[in-house]
Amino acid sequence: NLPQVASALSGLNRKQPAPAPDLAKFSLNDLRTAIQNGEIQAHYQPKLDVRTGVIKGVEALARWVRPDGSVIPPNRFIPVAEQYGMIHDLTLRIVEQACAQATQWNKRGLRLSMAINLSPQQLDSDQFVDDITKLIERHAVRADQIVWEITESSVVANLGTALGVLARMRLKGFGLSIDDYGTGFSSMQQLARIPFTELKVDRSFVHGAAQREHLRVILQSALEMANRLNLVTVAEGVEHLEDWRLLQDFGCVLGQGYLIARPMPGPDLPDWLRKNAQYLRTLHCEQSRL
Ligand code: C2E
Ligand code: MG
Ligand code: MG
Ligand code: MG
Repeated sequence: NLPQVASALSGLNRKQPAPAPDLAKFSLNDLRTAIQNGEIQAHYQPKLDVRTGVIKGVEALARWVRPDGSVIPPNRFIPVAEQYGMIHDLTLRIVEQACAQATQWNKRGLRLSMAINLSPQQLDSDQFVDDITKLIERHAVRADQIVWEITESSVVANLGTALGVLARMRLKGFGLSIDDYGTGFSSMQQLARIPFTELKVDRSFVHGAAQREHLRVILQSALEMANRLNLVTVAEGVEHLEDWRLLQDFGCVLGQGYLIARPMPGPDLPDWLRKNAQYLRTLHCEQSRL
């Protein structure tokens, strides 16, 4: 049945649920005001060295924290912000918070790489690079401490300009990560032209890989390819210890997921590290695996 196959394929190609504005829950004006009032807050999820269990970085993830304390997840408002011309302001707010947070951690001796997600629109013009360059100059953060996470589809959406913008970012010293790798149907030929520094395998190939042969094959091949291309390899969505051990066997560099921690407010991180030091040590590579 062709129409069914076509719609299943287009579903696969889409990273998030359809961007139907959730206008029953909020109006466009609510979102606009929320961005201006600082209700869009970055939470941070640890990225750990898979071999040692040591924290190496965090990913900043946007949450809409409403005045009544309720929280709206990014899949509900990011697509709306993208569609209605608000994503530029929203992203700059997240970048601002992430830089301020990294500066604070730097001062306490906690030097973590900071990953920030970008939308396709950010690759449409040089405006964004100019804005973030100015922004990080106001903080004690160097470009090489920041990694921009970009999905394959956002690059392919507008390859011509995206190539130029990404090359400029790389020249400034920023890291560039392919996010949700394996879900975007991008051509290798196109990806190879972009100066990526990191590859993040999508969680659909990570979650349960220890149990499922075909996931394991895809995961291992993606990691092997990326390692051989000298990219930093990252697995997202690690929820089970068996999957974590598998990542160690496959030589994955960094791991991120609920097994380690959910995204948390920045000020909670040092405390979380202290309380979980013992647990994190148990994640290191067992002697026999080294
Ligand atoms: P992403 O960049 O692929 O981020 C990973 C998502 O997986 C996050 O969802 C994270 O909380 C979730 N996750 C992490 N570990 C696990 C796990 O072990 N199991 C499961 N089931 N999920 C896990 P979140 O925070 O809801 O964000 C969803 C997406 O929204 C992100 O996917 C990203 O595409 C987008 N997003 C979030 N913040 C921003 C932002 O500031 N700007 C832009 N443009 N997009 C953002
Ligand atoms: Mg991401
Ligand atoms: Mg991802
Ligand atoms: Mg994802």
